[in-house]
Amino acid sequence: MICAKCDQAIRPGQQYEIRDIHSASAAGTVVHFHVVCPGKPRGR
Ligand SMILES: [Zn+2]
Repeated sequence: MICAKCDQAIRPGQQYEIRDIHSASAAGTVVHFHVVCPGKPRGR
């Protein structure tokens, strides 16, 4: 799964949410995104 917000992979164990997007062409597109995006790997 790829996070729709940060475009990074959602790994097992990370909390994520699922949202349905209704569009005219594709009914029931589902996107996944982190509850808290990990951000850049460096820092802290
Ligand atoms: Zn994310």
